[in-house]
Amino acid sequence: MIRVGVGLASISFKDLAVSESPVFKDKSVLSPHYVPETLLDREKEIRSLMQAVAPALGGKKPSNVFLYGKTGSGKTASTRFVLQKLGEERAEGVYSVYMNCRVYDSRYKVLQKTITSFCPDFAKTGYSFAVLYEKLLDWVECGDAASAKEKPGRGRQVVLALDEVDMVRDLDNLVYTLTRVNDDLKRGGLSVIGISNKVGFKQRLEARSKSSLCEQELVFQSYNAQQLQEILKQRSKTAFKNGVVEDSALNLAAAIAASENGDARYALSLLLRAGELAETKKPAKDGGVARVTDKEVEASRKAADEDKAFEVMNTLPVHQQLLLYAVASIAEDVSYKKLIDEGGERLYFSGEIYERYTRAAKKFGREPRTSRWYREYLHDLENLGLVNTVDSGKGVRGHTTLIKLAYEPGKVRKILEKTLTLSTANEAAE
Ligand code: ADP
Ligand code: MG
Repeated sequence: MIRVGVGLASISFKDLAVSESPVFKDKSVLSPHYVPETLLDREKEIRSLMQAVAPALGGKKPSNVFLYGKTGSGKTASTRFVLQKLGEERAEGVYSVYMNCRVYDSRYKVLQKTITSFCPDFAKTGYSFAVLYEKLLDWVECGDAASAKEKPGRGRQVVLALDEVDMVRDLDNLVYTLTRVNDDLKRGGLSVIGISNKVGFKQRLEARSKSSLCEQELVFQSYNAQQLQEILKQRSKTAFKNGVVEDSALNLAAAIAASENGDARYALSLLLRAGELAETKKPAKDGGVARVTDKEVEASRKAADEDKAFEVMNTLPVHQQLLLYAVASIAEDVSYKKLIDEGGERLYFSGEIYERYTRAAKKFGREPRTSRWYREYLHDLENLGLVNTVDSGKGVRGHTTLIKLAYEPGKVRKILEKTLTLSTANEAAE
């Protein structure tokens, strides 16, 4: 029997009801998964893509199309939009499937995903490649009985959208197979929309795959500040409550994203984070409304910057990590505080950091490298923008290098402590 305590008896979900956000009307509108109703400034690209796949509606195989452009230029959104339109035509025998090749990253997985998305009963594993291939041919040719009304004489037209197609490990094989499918088909056709964020990637393909995959090409230019402004404006109308986002804050987010490759995804994430920051601010005493100002956007940029830097730190080679760890732990050490303060920034002597580095190496079970290597590592960290170095000039202890950490020492040390502990443990286990 469940005994209900006195305090618990009065608890209900009503009390817990999430209090309404003073900032957001619908936050999900800013998430990367949200599909906007209209795509601004992409009419030309969308028309071209529609034109490319249109032959499918007449039972003919479209040419393969290859879309490329930097991250956040609207390739995925435009492709999904076109496939949705294609579906709305409800044309007999026309099918499409979209997949992201980060997940479906081999020829086998791509084929399997294609088949199972049309034939959900087809068991998911255990088939050889040859079986999958035959199954696909059979399905495109309308070999299955259930579809007699689908004019089996024409077969089916399948449009396969492969997003981030550069992630497929055996891409040359995949493209070769997809080309062969069309040679082997007695009726119907299979065409590909290939998408990549990596502008130069197609140079890595074999000539044969390149000409097959890129029968038509569509370049997505990055957005400029003005276009990003429009995108943000449109999205913030549904995402935020009226009057919460200041115009200048929105323009600032657009300008920052424009200077970072014109990435619309980044612009939207800046605004989302700025909104979350505004949400945590204490409400003004006079009951004034919460606002997203330049300050929140700046802070949001800084946080995004930090995230990126922390990601870089996690993937550094181990001795660079140890060195960075040494800089961070010296910066946290209060007894070093009074060393040198230049414009409020703390600087550390290279020699002392080297000593800390050797200590850190021992702590994590590594053999410290010589000071020649140390200077090399320091140089690497500076190139990545994780530390800054300055020459001390003559006055201070002769000529020496002074080092400054670019990010908050406490956070840096915590992150590295975790990765270094993990990699030491992994090595011990091997
Ligand atoms: P890509 O695939 O080129 O990296 P996406 O299509 O994923 O870029 O777009 C990134 C984000 O920006 C998505 O949230 C998308 O909805 C939004 N977006 C991109 N282009 C537009 C546009 N023209 N209008 C409105 N939103 C857009
Ligand atoms: Mg994309």
